[in-house]
Amino acid sequence: MQSEKDKLVIFDTTLRDGEQSPGASMSKEEKVRIAKLLERMGVDVIEAGFAIASPGDFAAVQAVAQTVKDSTVCSLARAVKGDILRASEALRHARAPRIHTFIATSPIHMQYKLQMEPEAVLQQAVEAVKLARQFTDDVEFSLEDGSRSEPQFMYRIIEAVINAGAGTINIPDTVGYGEPSGYGAIFKRVIEKVPNAERAIFSTHCHNDLGLAVANSLSAVMHGARQVECTINGLGERAGNCALEEIVMAVRTRQDLYPVETGIDTTHIVPTSRLVTAVTGFAVQPNKAIVGANAFAHESGIHQDGILKHRETYEIMRAEAVGWGQNRLVLGKHSGRAAVKERYQTLGVEFSDPDAFNRVFQLFKELADKKHEIFDEDLHSLISGATKSVELYQLHDLEIRSKSGTNPQAQLRLLVDGELQSATAEGSGPVDAAFKAIELIVDSHFELQVYSVNAVTEGTDAQGTVTVRLEKEGRLANGIGADTDILVSSVKAYLDALNSLAGIDHNRSGI
Ligand code: MN
Repeated sequence: MQSEKDKLVIFDTTLRDGEQSPGASMSKEEKVRIAKLLERMGVDVIEAGFAIASPGDFAAVQAVAQTVKDSTVCSLARAVKGDILRASEALRHARAPRIHTFIATSPIHMQYKLQMEPEAVLQQAVEAVKLARQFTDDVEFSLEDGSRSEPQFMYRIIEAVINAGAGTINIPDTVGYGEPSGYGAIFKRVIEKVPNAERAIFSTHCHNDLGLAVANSLSAVMHGARQVECTINGLGERAGNCALEEIVMAVRTRQDLYPVETGIDTTHIVPTSRLVTAVTGFAVQPNKAIVGANAFAHESGIHQDGILKHRETYEIMRAEAVGWGQNRLVLGKHSGRAAVKERYQTLGVEFSDPDAFNRVFQLFKELADKKHEIFDEDLHSLISGATKSVELYQLHDLEIRSKSGTNPQAQLRLLVDGELQSATAEGSGPVDAAFKAIELIVDSHFELQVYSVNAVTEGTDAQGTVTVRLEKEGRLANGIGADTDILVSSVKAYLDALNSLAGIDHNRSGI
């Protein structure tokens, strides 16, 4: 049956804008794992990175382009030749490549950041689009800080870049200043005033500084936008981007209202959210819409009574529809290599060589000795521990002495670049003592900004996942560690953050 609704293109930028969250760096392997789940979920366009930003970004875009077949793979590029060439090179093996080029169009950005006259900006945008079109038919153009740009100038530049071959026009709310009625009105006016507007798809890209990213995106959709740029868990710069799970479920739940539908298989939402949490260490708050632990938990007696009598009394969506309660197939200490490998395949993880799988299987066996049932979330946390590319510091062993009324003491040994070093320290608590002992060896002088513990799954034998964020002179790194012993998790997380600081370069910007 032919649907009368328009298709809403879902453009996921978890791997690009999401990764610009301070401390959310992902390795190439992690990006490929997330990209595979996005592909399986039915995401139309995956923005895999900003190819020119760093060699790591380039390699990640290239790896995603080589792996993903069913989704378009996109790289960001400023409207300059070097960026576009680099993006096209990274996308060379993509089945469906898109180059996403941008330039700022607001008076404040043109005057102070670019120091360019509007005419020169327009010319540069047109040339960038034409150049990008030499490599692919699928070119997106973004007007950076579009929501604060002069309407007349916007109409002219949009008309010109469509004539130059841009098929998607993105008008981002880069700084999160927009509100629903005004942001939606921009799309309405642009589509009315730009003479060749029917030849392009208009796109939203909203930031959540005022908590309005999803509302603004929906308003734009009501006024003609047919692509939404979004991220899993709303990850992204500052307060984050429009959350994929929220926009997709809003459109789906309110089919009475929105004139669009998406191609997303929503049952993959929760597993993908879990993977992004495991990889970045950014835990989802319990009351977060759709993917928060409490999103479908009904506490009050009146609500519970209503739900039991007739589900729809209080529930507007089914938890199962977004993937809660699925994939709970349990593995245990008697599960063999084949079962574990197969489960990983279902999760979208393939092992490049037998050694990689052997390492993970060894960790699986160690965990299964300590923990009765192993869930998908445990498998994700195991692989995160086994695939870190840089491992300068590793925990060898840890001993904590803790007695009420006295200061706990931690004695630990680390492998530092393969060499065993030991230290003993006291602290106000066992975690504090362990971190002080690490610092005696490493002497990093990073400041601990965030320390949080989350249970990966339920039960007292659950693995505790610890997230730490370290900061020194504006450099930030998140670390994540999982173990059934939260003191071990804590040490692993601290070392993980130090390891990623040892191996990342930070040279980013974007819309
Ligand atoms: Mn952005």
